[in-house]
Amino acid sequence: MKIAILPGDGIGPEIIEQAVKVLNALGEKFEMESAPVGGAGYVAHGHPLPDATLKLATEADAILFGAVGDWKYDTLERALRPEQAILGLRKNLGLFANLRPAILYPELAGASTLKPEVVSGLDILIIRELTGDIYFGKPRGVRIAPDGPFEGEREGFDTMRYAESEIRRIAHVGFQAARKRGKRLTSVDKANVLETFQFWKDIVTDVHKEYPDVALEHMYVDNAAMQLVRAPKKFDVIVTGNMFGDILSDAAAMLTGSIGMLPSASLDANNKGLYEPSHGSAPDIAGKGIANPLATILSAAMMLRYSLNLPEQAVRIESAVKKVLADGLRTADIHEAGTTRVGTSDMGAAVVKALG
Ligand code: NAD
Repeated sequence: MKIAILPGDGIGPEIIEQAVKVLNALGEKFEMESAPVGGAGYVAHGHPLPDATLKLATEADAILFGAVGDWKYDTLERALRPEQAILGLRKNLGLFANLRPAILYPELAGASTLKPEVVSGLDILIIRELTGDIYFGKPRGVRIAPDGPFEGEREGFDTMRYAESEIRRIAHVGFQAARKRGKRLTSVDKANVLETFQFWKDIVTDVHKEYPDVALEHMYVDNAAMQLVRAPKKFDVIVTGNMFGDILSDAAAMLTGSIGMLPSASLDANNKGLYEPSHGSAPDIAGKGIANPLATILSAAMMLRYSLNLPEQAVRIESAVKKVLADGLRTADIHEAGTTRVGTSDMGAAVVKALG
């Protein structure tokens, strides 16, 4: 099993080092190879996604990604900015399904802006379609309005569209993920207003016939946003389009109040994936040894479950993370009175120890 390790910029190398430490402690035979990406790719090879890095990512069974970006690259032309590496990897590897679990460990319930009883024990999974929808639909641009009440005036416009096969493949990802969890899938749409999402709803309903063991519910996006902050624990798995997923997954992430805890996966049609923490490269704390490595370690656990078919090893890592939290260890971002503050490396070592 070959894993491409792409640490990136800022805190990327520090947090990836901890995840690699945990992977090495599992007793499995992984072949791991590193390559520069983002600002580090630009510095080493003049491009955020150097050819050799893309080749390594293409050949690997899975990719463990740190984070990219730093303010010092803000003056580069857009095509050379670190963030372009993520878009390039998604496009070249056909990563169309973004999986973001939002989990709130009971020990961290105080970190959320919501009342502890509303969020404690939260464990939901948001699946966002990543390559279609209004973000990529054409035509788009700025033009002179050809008709309507503002005819003749300049207008901006985009196109929302989803092909049937795009909806089917993300619906399958949703049903299959729900099958492995609580067997409940909520498909979020805006079918009351948008033709694209009436079509989405019809196709998801059709795919449901292949998953009679999973309960399907349809919900309008405005209601879903409300329910996410009113009673988020009612959800199990949510599947939705690119734009709605963009917004809902960030809202769900913040329910947990701790961006340093949230892993993510972006999968292709064969469950090959890129795994990364939901946060960025945090240049403000890079090199200080205080970044929380748990989102990256939990991303490695997702990699074992979804791409490397080692679910029992994923559970081992997740249980070890729960144990270090129960033992009261906290990095600065989640520290509160009565707990023990540790740095990035000590947190990684504690997870390794807790693997047993
Ligand atoms: P950020 O997520 O990097 O940081 C936001 C805040 O959260 C900062 O205060 C940071 O210190 C803190 N934080 C983030 N991760 C943490 C961790 N693991 N432990 C402790 N604290 C943590 O977002 P930003 O500041 O808006 O962006 C910084 C850079 O990251 C930018 O260049 C941006 O483009 C890039 N970025 C990259 C990705 C990615 O690589 N996928 C995603 C988002 C942002």
